[in-house]
Amino acid sequence: MNLSEARRRAAERLRASGTEYPEREAEFLLAEAARIDRSFLAAHPFLPLEDSAARRLWEMTERRFGGEPLQYILGSWEFYGRSLDVAPGVLIPRPDTEILVEHALTFLPSSGRFLDWGTGSGCITLALLSERSDLTAVAVDANALAVSLTWRNLKLHGLLSRCFLWHSRTPQDIPAGDGEFDLVVSNPPYIPFPLISGLPREVRKEPLSALDGGEDGLLWYRALFGWAPAKLRKGGRLLFEIGDGEQGEQLVQIAPSSMEFEGIFHDLSRKPRAASWLRV
Ligand code: GLN
Repeated sequence: MNLSEARRRAAERLRASGTEYPEREAEFLLAEAARIDRSFLAAHPFLPLEDSAARRLWEMTERRFGGEPLQYILGSWEFYGRSLDVAPGVLIPRPDTEILVEHALTFLPSSGRFLDWGTGSGCITLALLSERSDLTAVAVDANALAVSLTWRNLKLHGLLSRCFLWHSRTPQDIPAGDGEFDLVVSNPPYIPFPLISGLPREVRKEPLSALDGGEDGLLWYRALFGWAPAKLRKGGRLLFEIGDGEQGEQLVQIAPSSMEFEGIFHDLSRKPRAASWLRV
């Protein structure tokens, strides 16, 4: 069987499972199974697929057919133009989150220091530290798997020396002095608990602890609004990823008076996706 036929067969199987982008996913799986680039695949569709690669492809296709997220099967995914390891038990980085990186880059002064609360795979921290060699960070997660994955990703990109990793359940115990940060950035769990059972089945394969924002989705924002202002210098910023709908307006209502609302930013599909506050 050649590469093109293998891709078509995998795509057919995936289509039967109701996957939204079967061709594209089949291409990712085939490239991974055959250990080639997707561009090589496009350029040489009639090369034969080795038996061992074919076995890997069918095995991965069946896992995907069973509802496992593509990114967990591949074991790596791209965020802000860089490849990072992803693993079950840790939230998969989303392209939507890249707008936090863009805004954080404009907020952070030269030699700036930031705190990333709920770092997950470490995607935001990794993107910021890679883009700017003057920055330093503290990255925090309550999930030990996330902390170890972030460690791996930072190591992979040679960034460990500029990041302090902290495994913490309670935000208040972060070892950082008052006024230490120019930015606190977070993509906290923000899905209202009652909506979680209605999420797509792939998303429900991701850790609940990274999605569950309590009854109204605002649980972790309340906690962050409680302690983060003290950690920020005056003129520093708080930057959150937010859910769509009313979440931005709700956050404006519950923000403390020490934080001045700056604005809501939209993602590529024009949904409200981030909000920022200035420490006054
Ligand atoms: N953006 C994620 C989703 O919609 C949610 C991540 C989060 O709760 N921070 O699945």
